[in-house]
Amino acid sequence: MYHDLPRTARFWSFLLAVDQDLAEETRKNACPCGGRLHSANYPRKPRGTPGQLPEQECLRLSFCCDRDGCRKRVTPPSVRFLGRKVYLGAIVILISAMRQGPSPRRVRELATRFGADRRTIARWQVFWREHFPQTSFWKIERAQLMPAVEILSLPYSLVDAYLSRHPIWRGWMLLLRFLSPISVAKSLQIEISR
Ligand SMILES: [Zn+2]
Repeated sequence: MYHDLPRTARFWSFLLAVDQDLAEETRKNACPCGGRLHSANYPRKPRGTPGQLPEQECLRLSFCCDRDGCRKRVTPPSVRFLGRKVYLGAIVILISAMRQGPSPRRVRELATRFGADRRTIARWQVFWREHFPQTSFWKIERAQLMPAVEILSLPYSLVDAYLSRHPIWRGWMLLLRFLSPISVAKSLQIEISR
């Protein structure tokens, strides 16, 4: 199993660069009203990161329309933040997958390493088992995955599908990019924080 995320700070700044690309695509599309999008990022305090992340890497990139009367908020997909969870997406995925793999690791060990308690981890399990498979995103996208990914072992099966076929950085980047639409899925932003 893939017990580790890439350890270096460079991995996290690499993910920020991917988010900046995603944000730039969103910004170019402008607001549906025709207004221009200006940066209006959210400060976040993600937990469970390796060491202290620089302030810039904690920002959830977002935009606001500059037209009076519109001022619509437009938030691009993210490979770092999964919905409203406090932890970074990669950590939510990794810990959930570790609980499910061929030899599930003990909760205490995960709690020590990432500072996620039993209740938080249990909530993530519910997210993967019950909420995620119900999303239209998953219903459409799962057909594209080869070989077919088993719902019962989500997200382990997803991690396996990507990391068994790519070098670790690339595997994580592709997996996080694949999942990035759910970072802005409104239907997922209920009851699943942390
Ligand atoms: Zn607008």
